[in-house]
Amino acid sequence: MKIGGLQRISLIDYPGKISAIVFTQGCNFRCPYCHNPELVDPARYETTLDEGEVLSFLKRRRGKLDAVTVTGGEPTVQPDLELFLEKIRKMGYLIKVDTNGSNPRVLDALIRRNLVDYLAMDIKGPLKKYGRIASVKVDASLIRRSIEIITASGIEHEFRTTVVRSQLATDDLISISKLLKNAGLYVLQSFVPAKTIDNSFLSETSYSQEEFGAIRKKLERGSLRLLVR
Ligand code: SF4
Repeated sequence: MKIGGLQRISLIDYPGKISAIVFTQGCNFRCPYCHNPELVDPARYETTLDEGEVLSFLKRRRGKLDAVTVTGGEPTVQPDLELFLEKIRKMGYLIKVDTNGSNPRVLDALIRRNLVDYLAMDIKGPLKKYGRIASVKVDASLIRRSIEIITASGIEHEFRTTVVRSQLATDDLISISKLLKNAGLYVLQSFVPAKTIDNSFLSETSYSQEEFGAIRKKLERGSLRLLVR
C-alpha cells in the first residue's frame, strides 16, 4: 500500500466512532478543487510511510480506537487494498473506506469479503458532467454501478458532493439526488478554498447557508436523508 499520511485520531471522520485515518497516495481523478494535491499529483508526492509501521501503530492502539478510515487519494487504485484491510480487520477494527466510485468491482469485493463497515462515496456531479468535474475521462456506467452496489449493500453509507458554485447549479444537485433516491444519506459539502490542485479554484465559492437551505428543500425525496456540511 502506498500510504501518504496517517492521522492518529479523529473524532469526526467515522460517525460516532473514534478512528485513525490512513491516507493512500494516488488517484485516478483530478478534481480541480481537491484539497489533497500531495496525494493526487505525482509531482507533489511526498515520501510514503512504511506500511509495517502504520500497522504496528494500529496494533498498539487497539482498545483505544474503534475504527480505521482508509481515504485518499483513491484507495481502490491500490492493488493490495484488500490485503491491507484484512490485516486491519484481524485487529478487530471497524473499517470505513472513502471512494470516488470509479472501481465498482473493488467495492463489490470489499463488501463480499466483509472488509468494510462504512462506505463514503463522492458524487462529483450529474453523470453527464462527471468528466468535466473530475478533469479526466470517466465511464459514467461505473459510477452508476458503484451507487447501486453501495445502496443495495445494507452497509452504513453516505454519498457526498463538494459543491462549487460555478460547477453545480441547483438543477445539477436535483439530478444527483434522483440518482440517489434509494440511498441512506446525502451530504452537500460547501467548498472551502484552502488548498487545491488547481490554484485558480482558490477564488471559487460555494453557496450561502440560506441558498443551501433552499436547495435542500428541492432535493428532498423518498427516504433520502440530507445534510449540509
Ligand atoms: S477530490 Fe478525491 S477523487 Fe478528486 S482528485 Fe482529490 S482525491 Fe481524487
